[in-house]
Amino acid sequence: MVAVLNSVQHYWADEFAESGLKYRPATTQLFSGRTQTACDPGTSATGPFNCPADQTIDIDLSFFNQLRQPPFNARGGDFAQAYVIAHEYGHHVQNLLGSLRPGRTSGPQSDAVRVELQADCYAGVWAGNAESTGFITSLTRADIAEGLDAAAAVGDDRIQ
Ligand SMILES: [Zn+2]
Repeated sequence: MVAVLNSVQHYWADEFAESGLKYRPATTQLFSGRTQTACDPGTSATGPFNCPADQTIDIDLSFFNQLRQPPFNARGGDFAQAYVIAHEYGHHVQNLLGSLRPGRTSGPQSDAVRVELQADCYAGVWAGNAESTGFITSLTRADIAEGLDAAAAVGDDRIQ
């Protein structure tokens, strides 16, 4: 988990630097069950989340076990977990770039859905880089299917 979050943050630091921007790393809190942030009282029911107010990524490790059980019923797997982490850092990137602004919050064309899809895209570009640089080896179609399955199961809409 720590290797993945370091890889994701290094990736974005490099990407920002190439664009002449400064990446501010998100503080990551790994916890199990409950934590306290400026956004949320922090319960395992919320899963991993990004808190723009205090620029933290909060990862409930017990959530990855819940992911394989109802109501999520995701298949799980190492890549799926990495993808979920990369998605949350995607929200941190959006926050740094100013694209996390309030807008229409419901419906398929809403800003809320666009933000989620962009975070998925950011997770995907990290994964592509991680594979091309050898951080992830032997990525299979099954791994990718597990990642997409987890993304669908933990879409913030579904959790919230
Ligand atoms: Zn999200």
